Amino acid sequence: MTKINLTYHLKNIRHYYGNTKVLDIEDLKIEKGSITGLIGPNGSGKTTLLKLLAFAGRPTAGNILYNGRQEFPFSPTIRSKVTLLTQKPYLLKRTVFENIVYGLKIRKDKEYLETRVKKALSTVGLDYQDFAPRKWHELSGGEAQRVAMAARLILKPEVLLLDEPIASVDAKSAKLIREASLKARDTWGTTLVIASHDLQWLYSISDRQLSLFKGNIFSTGIENIITGPFEKINGESLVKTLGDGQAITLKGPAPKVCTAVIKKDSISIDLKKQAGDSGLNQLSGLLASMLLEKKSGHIMATVSIHDLSFVLRLTPDKISRLNLYPGKKVILRFHSNEVEWI
Ligand code: ADP
Repeated sequence: MTKINLTYHLKNIRHYYGNTKVLDIEDLKIEKGSITGLIGPNGSGKTTLLKLLAFAGRPTAGNILYNGRQEFPFSPTIRSKVTLLTQKPYLLKRTVFENIVYGLKIRKDKEYLETRVKKALSTVGLDYQDFAPRKWHELSGGEAQRVAMAARLILKPEVLLLDEPIASVDAKSAKLIREASLKARDTWGTTLVIASHDLQWLYSISDRQLSLFKGNIFSTGIENIITGPFEKINGESLVKTLGDGQAITLKGPAPKVCTAVIKKDSISIDLKKQAGDSGLNQLSGLLASMLLEKKSGHIMATVSIHDLSFVLRLTPDKISRLNLYPGKKVILRFHSNEVEWI
């Protein structure tokens, strides 16, 4: 039997803030050299999970094995190998050069600093001559995030945890951060876990995606979450009316439950509405983006319907048959039975 090389193994993790449970993960394995994407609405527990993976605190209950061993906050093993980059990077009130070498200096590693800083900066697309002497306040948001990323890359981390790394950066920085992340994995076998609201960006970088909701991993892969309130009709259907007047009808659950999951594989796309079946949801929207899924050869598409964004899978055949391209008006179709309530 081949032994899977795990960076993390989480067992029966529960985390509370006061009396509120914010994370509940029974079993989660993260393989070495993998890139895991975390998706979920605000407050679903992504940051809490990343902090636990960074060993910045202990879970209220449960075990986190790191490389097969139980580790604890501030253990020297972790400090030199696991690093977390947050949405708003914290930079020291010093030059870019000093910010980047800070982690090395703590480790009393002082060799070839200039060459290494040059390399780290070039990985994130910043010129050494121009940027190394700059002060922390002489950087745009995207440049500051790239400097923070370079400060982590210079440590050749075993694990790089990124919490909304592109939420406040420009498109060029987002692209460079993506490339630098992939390079870290390819060069050093770094394991990455990344939380992002940008599904397209996350999808283009990660090997697998975990959907979090209310502290639970409810699915492997990106799925569509529709939050309430829903209006109850005929006792068994629930309706959500969108701002543009369109309505989504779903077969109803127990009274209090108010979040629906529509699996992406339950959704299809067409150019015209189909007559007949009253159980079908048929919503007009715009095809917002299409992205090739590395493993399957399918295309992951997003469709915007008023202020909701749906993801679904398309085959290349369907794309050519319907002549689909981003910006095209489409009909999104799914049955009102195809819902899971969480
Ligand atoms: P996400 O990153 O998905 O937005 P978080 O992990 O930040 O989610 O938050 C999960 C839940 O825990 C939220 O309900 C949030 O309000 C709560 N929470 C986060 N940090 C704290 C804290 N330090 N004290 C109390 N509650 C917190």
